[in-house]
Amino acid sequence: METINHQKITTGADYIQSLRNRSLEVYLFGEKVDEPVDHPMVRPSINALAKTYDLAIAAPELASVISPFTGERVSRFLHVCTDANQLVLQNKMQRKLGQLTGTCFQRCVGMDAFNALYSVTFEMDEKYKTSYHQRLKSFLTLMHQYNYVVGGAMTDVKGDRSKAPHQQEDPDMFVHITKRDENGIWISGAKAHQTGCINSHYMIVMPTMRLGEQDKEYAIVGAVPVTAQGITYIYGRQSCDTRSMENGSIDVGNAQYGGQEAMVIFQDVFIPNEYIFMDGEYDFAALLVERFTAYHRRSYVCKTGLGDVLIGAAANIAEMNGITKASHIKDKLVEMTHQNETIYATGIASSYQGYATSSGAYLCDGMLANVCKHHVTKMPFELSRLAQDIAGGLVSTLPSEQDLNHPEIGQLLRKYLKGKASVPTEERIRILRLIENLTMGRNAVGYLTESMHGAGSPQAQRIQIGRMMQLEYKKRLATILAGIETETQKDLVIDELGGYFARVFKID
Ligand code: SF4
Ligand code: FE
Repeated sequence: METINHQKITTGADYIQSLRNRSLEVYLFGEKVDEPVDHPMVRPSINALAKTYDLAIAAPELASVISPFTGERVSRFLHVCTDANQLVLQNKMQRKLGQLTGTCFQRCVGMDAFNALYSVTFEMDEKYKTSYHQRLKSFLTLMHQYNYVVGGAMTDVKGDRSKAPHQQEDPDMFVHITKRDENGIWISGAKAHQTGCINSHYMIVMPTMRLGEQDKEYAIVGAVPVTAQGITYIYGRQSCDTRSMENGSIDVGNAQYGGQEAMVIFQDVFIPNEYIFMDGEYDFAALLVERFTAYHRRSYVCKTGLGDVLIGAAANIAEMNGITKASHIKDKLVEMTHQNETIYATGIASSYQGYATSSGAYLCDGMLANVCKHHVTKMPFELSRLAQDIAGGLVSTLPSEQDLNHPEIGQLLRKYLKGKASVPTEERIRILRLIENLTMGRNAVGYLTESMHGAGSPQAQRIQIGRMMQLEYKKRLATILAGIETETQKDLVIDELGGYFARVFKID
């Protein structure tokens, strides 16, 4: 088996070191990046991921687990949950990391992929007598040995959206098998806006949607080292990204942390048999996508950590402007908090209602996970609107850091941009820049656009919510109470709403 780094990664510093000298094919601004670790536009995303390691040391109960495979402490991001509390702890860790970084820390896709694959491979093996589950466990063991970062690559570029993968004029619109021999397969295609892919050690490639029999060559799940031959990464731009290439630390808003998305292009990339976890079982593609998105849509409680930062920034700027006594300011902060906690409530409730699959892995509640993500497609936008309202117009008209530091103009700016006398002007500017960063700058990619489209665009959740809303059951409740139908003994005990009570109270 190929490995990249033979040291177990423990600290954030170890992790950053493990990314060096990997000769990845990364392109940014039309040029190949020699060492992504040292690139000022890439580095904040690496720092954000490094924080997952540092948190595991500072708060081991929150951000790490004892590996069932190696018996050693390993990141919670590599753990398959075997009870509901472990699902809840994932959410608590995600909120904390959102608070600490103010951005996407990029590690949840792999976590959610492992959890979904654990049960799906088990069920595939039951049906087809394959050995994917054991292979997955061996792969997980290897990842635990090194405490690696594993990215998940799901979103195909999709070409003509009205056509299935096999109907596309260009077969590469969905990742597919191009060749096979007794040792493995080769794949080609592209995955769009892949979170943290360049900052990972391995990637798990998965299908992006329901597949039919003619899409068999697209029904592929496999792990590849990010360094595999034939992979090209093209870095995604972010709003205001080149500010990180200027001198200074004010105008970037959040100098330390940022997210990362890139396009990943596979050109005949080899996957050995032992890293293949689905090969042609097209009838399991939809189940995998559904389970993965259930985990991932409640993972979006990460955004409540960013919401906490934004609420804090809004409260700070109100104080610096001397307007804390205005009742509408307090009310806006309450409204922001109410919306932020609404997201968290649905996400964490989805985890609390987790239940065992036949593999032993716990799956979160699908309805509440979709409701959580659907809130996330709206509420961060409202929080951003309120933060900008509280901040005032300066949030988008501030002069640059260079002007602030200019020997003559600088003093004028420090005089005229002052709020409360006790607050240094630079501190006021820094808070305004942070609000800009989260609501329209670099980390608005994570806080707003990713909230909209990551883990599926709003309509994808509405479709799932529609599938699970059990109108027939609800209609019966209404017709009984309206005196149209008569209640039976069965009506007293069946609970179709997520099957939660049925599972807890063991009602058939
Ligand atoms: Fe994790 Fe949130 Fe980033 Fe997704 S958007 S990887 S859930 S931090
Ligand atoms: Fe995401």
